[in-house]
Amino acid sequence: MIRYSIVPESPAAHRFEVSLQLPASKGNAFELHMPAWIRGSYMVRDFARHILSLKGVCQGATVDLEKLDKQTWKLIAPCDGTLVVSYQVYAWDLSVRGAHLDVTHGYFNGPCVFLGVAGKDQEPCEVIIKRPAGERYTQWTLATTLPARHVDNQGFGRYVADNYEALLDHPVEMGLFQEAAFEVGGVPHRFVANTNQSFDLQRICADLKKICQTEVDLFGELPLSQYMFLLWVVGSGYGGLEHRDSTSLMIGRDSLPFKGMQKISSGYRRLLGLCSHEYFHLWNVKRIRPEVFNQQGTAREVHTRQLWVFEGVTSYYDELLLLRSGVIETKDYFEMLAEAVTRLHRAPGRFRQTLEESSFDAWTKFYKQDENAPNAIVSYYLKGALVALLLDLAIRLRSEGRLSLDRVMREFWHRFGKTDTGVTESAFEQLVEEVTGLNFSSEFDLWLRTTDELPLAEAFKEFGVELHLLPAKSHSDLGGVVDARPEIEGGKPVLGAKLEPRPSGLLLLQVFDGGAAQAAGLSAGDEIVAVDGLRMEQPALEAYLSQQPAESLVHVHVFRGDELMTFKVAPLPAPADTCWFFLSEDIDAAHLQRRTEWLSGHVDRG
Ligand code: ZN
Repeated sequence: MIRYSIVPESPAAHRFEVSLQLPASKGNAFELHMPAWIRGSYMVRDFARHILSLKGVCQGATVDLEKLDKQTWKLIAPCDGTLVVSYQVYAWDLSVRGAHLDVTHGYFNGPCVFLGVAGKDQEPCEVIIKRPAGERYTQWTLATTLPARHVDNQGFGRYVADNYEALLDHPVEMGLFQEAAFEVGGVPHRFVANTNQSFDLQRICADLKKICQTEVDLFGELPLSQYMFLLWVVGSGYGGLEHRDSTSLMIGRDSLPFKGMQKISSGYRRLLGLCSHEYFHLWNVKRIRPEVFNQQGTAREVHTRQLWVFEGVTSYYDELLLLRSGVIETKDYFEMLAEAVTRLHRAPGRFRQTLEESSFDAWTKFYKQDENAPNAIVSYYLKGALVALLLDLAIRLRSEGRLSLDRVMREFWHRFGKTDTGVTESAFEQLVEEVTGLNFSSEFDLWLRTTDELPLAEAFKEFGVELHLLPAKSHSDLGGVVDARPEIEGGKPVLGAKLEPRPSGLLLLQVFDGGAAQAAGLSAGDEIVAVDGLRMEQPALEAYLSQQPAESLVHVHVFRGDELMTFKVAPLPAPADTCWFFLSEDIDAAHLQRRTEWLSGHVDRG
C-alpha cells in the first residue's frame, strides 16, 4: 500500500502540499516518477516542472533523492523502515488537464500531483485529502469519484484506488458549488458546477439523463457504479477531459441554460454536446483502449494511428445522440453537421495530412497548432467524425438497413472493452468487416490513408439529404439548413485570411493557402491598419471589397512588427466552402425510410 496525503497548504500562493509514504527495506532502490502527460490529452506537459522542494525522510532522518531526469528521482542511501517523500505542487493552471488552487476553490488531476513509485504501479493506493486550514474554508465540500473509505460529510478524508493508474484517473474538486443528482439505469450520477451564477440546474440534469440513457442503450450496459460531471464556468473557454467514472468540463458563461429558456441556445447545445462526448468516452477510449495505451505509460509520447476511432467516432455520436435522445431537433442537428462540414472545407491542410497521420502526429501537430495549422493539418476529431458518418451511412446502405455503426460499436465494447483487451492498430477495420460481412478496404484506404476529398454529398444523397457547398456570405457564415434548394451564386471577393479585430486594426490570424492575401505577400501576424488609405472594421472591409470592380487591386497597409508596409492585393472570389443542407420532403419512400432510421437509430432488424 502506498499512502498519499494532499492538503491545499497555501491557497493564496496556489500550493498543494503532498506526501507519499511507503514501507522500505535495505537493498531496495526506489525510483519516483511524475507522468509527462495526462491520458486523453495528447501532449507532453511535464507536470514535474511544478514540483517544489522535494525531500525524503527515512525513520525520521533526511535522505538524499537524486534527480535522474526531468521527472525521475532516485533514493540513494538505503532506507530500512518507512520512507516519506514530501513536496509542494504549484497549481495555477485553470484547465481540465491541470491543477488549480486559489482561495475560491481547489482542483487537481492525479498526474499533476502524485508521484509514482517504479515497480509498484500495481499496488493499491490510499490518499487522504484534507481541507485547507482556516475559517474561510470551513464550508468547502469535495467532489470526486475516487472510492471513499472514511470521509466527513463534506467529503474530506480517506480515499482508495486499486493501483497508481486508477489513482490518476479521478479528478478532485473542492470549494463551494451547486450540485444535483440523477440516476441512469439505477446508477447514481452527480452533476457538480463550480459557479455561483444562477442557472437551470434541473433542466441540465433532465437533459443529461436522456442523453446518458441513449448512450447506455447504444452500448447495452453501463459498466460503472457512479458517474460525475464536473463543470467550471468561465468568461470564455471550452474543453473537456474524459475519465473512467467522471469528466471535467469547462464552458463559457453563456452556455448555461437560464431558467425559463424555451428554444435551446447554441451555447447550451454545445454544452450538451460536450457532456455527450465525454460520457461516450467512458466506453470508447477509457474502457475500449488502444493496445499501445495499455502497454506504455505516461512517461513519454505514445503514438497510435487510431485516434480517429476514439475521438472521431465519439464526435460523430456526441451530436447525433443529442437528436436521438430528443434534447435537440433535426434542424439543430443538421446545423451542427453543416458547421462541421464547413470547418473541414475551410482547412486546406486536409490535402496535406491524412487522417491516420493526424492521429499519429497529434502530439506535435494537432496539440501544438500555430498560425499555419489550417494549411498543414486536418483534425482527427473533425474528419474522423465525418468518416464515422460515412461509415455509418455506408453500412446502412449496403446492408439494406439491417445493420449500422451502432452494431459495430456494441460489438467493439463486448470484444475489447468488457474483456479489457487492447485494440491493435488494425482491429477496428477488421471488426467492421467482421460484424457487417462487408468489405470496406477501399473505403478505409480512401478515408484514412489518402488526402482525397471525402465523398459526403454522394453519401447524403442516398439518405434524402442534399449537401450544397456555397461561397460564404460573410466571415460569420458557417452554413446551416435551408428550406428550399439554394441558388448557386458567385463568391464575393475576399482576402483569404482569418482576421481578428484589434484596437488599432485587424490582425491576420491565419493566411490560407491559395488565397489572395498569401499571393500578395501578407502574413499571419500582420496588422491591417488601413485599406486604400481607409481604416475599416471587418464588415466594412467585406462590403468595400464586394463593391470593387472585378480584378481591381486594393492597397492593404499593415504593420509587420514595427514596420509599416503596403501590399497590392487582388481579392479572389470566396470559395464554395460553406455547407448548407436541404432536407427535401419530395423523396421516395426508400430514401425517407433510410433517413428516418439513421436519425432515430431504429435499425438493426438483422
Ligand atoms: Zn474526446
